[in-house]
Amino acid sequence: MKRPEHGIISKVKPLLALLFALIPQTIHAFPADWTTPLAPFRISGNLYYVGSRDLAAYLITTPQGNMLINANLESSPPQIRRSIEQLGFKWADTKILLSSQAHYDHAAGAAEVIRQTHAKHMVMEGDVDVIKSGGATDYDQTLDRFPPAPVDRVLRDQDTVELGGSVIKAHKTAGHTRGCTTWTLETRDGNRRRNVVIVGGWGLNPAVRLVARPGKPASYPGITADFDRTFKSLAALPCDIFLGAHGLYFDLLSKLDRVAREGEAVWIDPAGYRRALAEKEAIYRKELARQEAIQ
Ligand SMILES: [Zn+2]
Repeated sequence: MKRPEHGIISKVKPLLALLFALIPQTIHAFPADWTTPLAPFRISGNLYYVGSRDLAAYLITTPQGNMLINANLESSPPQIRRSIEQLGFKWADTKILLSSQAHYDHAAGAAEVIRQTHAKHMVMEGDVDVIKSGGATDYDQTLDRFPPAPVDRVLRDQDTVELGGSVIKAHKTAGHTRGCTTWTLETRDGNRRRNVVIVGGWGLNPAVRLVARPGKPASYPGITADFDRTFKSLAALPCDIFLGAHGLYFDLLSKLDRVAREGEAVWIDPAGYRRALAEKEAIYRKELARQEAIQ
């Protein structure tokens, strides 16, 4: 004998199944600022901000097409495209795609950007396998996977990327990821030249092991040598305009509040760069000492 509820349950069941199937995509708790759009703006010369309120993306425009730094989350390409178009540039003119680091919050949108624009993807050695495997070969296995993306050119430390007379230099600042990349370029404001630094990443995620212990190797061999070299390299960079992969690195939102009164000069912040660098290095040294003390 069938009870009447059975009929209802059998009708509702496919709906429930559908609902559960959708949950994995909606369960990620991203900070709201990662996906909240921000009106795009010019930073200096031919350099523009086209990211969200925290996930930074940069457009460098040239007469031969444009270079984009960071494709961000899998859901970000439409936001980045809208920002580029709001500035009056063409999405299809995106000729080169670069990346700050091979983590999903900066690189998950790369496959889609490349599919739509056919941009050449240039990635620092150390991050190449992670980008090509969608995070499967990342030393930090606690992070989200993402759509794998093809790589057209493998970059090495100090390599330059050139398009239409603009040059961007790649600095390998590894540790956060094995090919974490800080980009530098020069912009022109009238007759003045500005040194721009776009920091790739300088923090440690929670699962990172700096120190090897019996049965528990370091996150990767040479991780502390990489961090040491990174802080040294960053300290040696001339910096007028301080930027980074996350808006939080360089106080994007509070600086943006001042733009109306102070103009583009708010982005010139060499002291802020030195201060942030010193803070991040101190955090790293403290964590290293803490892990060494456990041994
Ligand atoms: Zn990261």
